[in-house]
Amino acid sequence: MKPRHYLDHAATSPLRPEAKDAILQALAIDGNPSSVHSEGRQARRAFEDARRRLAGRLGVAPARLVVTGCASESNAAILSQFSGRVLVSSIEHPSVLFGGRAAPRIEARADGRLCLDHLQRLLSENAVDLVSTMAVNNETGVVQPIGDIRDITNAFGVPLHVDAVQALGRQPIDLRLADFWTFSAHKIGGPKGVGLAVIPDDGAWKPLLGGGGQERNRRSGTENVLGLAGFAAALDAIDADEPRRIDELRRRFEQACRQIDGATIIAESSRRAPHITSVALPGLKAETLIMQLDLAGIAVSAGSACSSGKVQRSHVLDAMGLADKVAEATVRVSFGWNSRAKDVDAIVAQLIRVQSNRA
Ligand code: PLP
Repeated sequence: MKPRHYLDHAATSPLRPEAKDAILQALAIDGNPSSVHSEGRQARRAFEDARRRLAGRLGVAPARLVVTGCASESNAAILSQFSGRVLVSSIEHPSVLFGGRAAPRIEARADGRLCLDHLQRLLSENAVDLVSTMAVNNETGVVQPIGDIRDITNAFGVPLHVDAVQALGRQPIDLRLADFWTFSAHKIGGPKGVGLAVIPDDGAWKPLLGGGGQERNRRSGTENVLGLAGFAAALDAIDADEPRRIDELRRRFEQACRQIDGATIIAESSRRAPHITSVALPGLKAETLIMQLDLAGIAVSAGSACSSGKVQRSHVLDAMGLADKVAEATVRVSFGWNSRAKDVDAIVAQLIRVQSNRA
């Protein structure tokens, strides 16, 4: 069988061996964490141990973590706490756009960063309950100026939510900068189907899911012991040097792309997270390129591939004002814990082949 080169870590990152081991261990636990017998207490211990480790890595009190079924649920749960205007940017993940009711969207600049002047103007012209934005864009990798955004929301006395799904494990995150945060296990090599909402210590919380009152009445449903054990193990497994190694791969890839006639690296001059890059080859539709790469054993995606099975026009590239022919040709290449230089070399060779066949 032809070797595969998986370069779609921003959609989901393969399960790390450490996470798999933790899940296998947790599989041996029979009890329900809410049960009072020994089996139940064992499950509770495993779950709370994972919560404590995650909270320790994030630098917050364990009680601030609400365990959810995914980041989309975390986003929905946080945004649903606010009945008034929730201001979101035009480049958010669809799960945030869905909850950004009754307000104009914060514009993005051509370099992929939020327009701070526009945020300021919207806050001065509208009564706003919450500002919700992302730390790292999932299509371009552009790092958003969360400190500056915090200064602006503070000046207006408006709470801030940050979707940091693509930042976790890839760059330092200071949880003091926002009131609410969203994370997802499967983007860092944990299992799919478990997320975190980080919420303030105090204050009322309206659960999206009611019932058994788990998670201190903040999210009902029997706890996902396997999922949280895998999430904690995945985060623990990230060593301090991993972002640098991944960044080196991205740079190697981009350096090679610069040699391809007419190739455009999206938001090239902006500060970007180590693992994501988007490139357009002129005159080639993204879906065609993705299929050609797949046949050659290489997995990449276009736009927000995690949101659907088909290639859709990217609202992020639209918001940045990219020309249609560039936006339609853009593919996202994203690296992760098991990416190697040979994966980069394989995709580069294929891109050069595709381009020279067209010449
Ligand atoms: N937020 C961002 C920035 C993402 O990239 C994604 C997934 O791509 C999500 C939220 C949704 O994550 P989940 O699959 O855990 O719902």
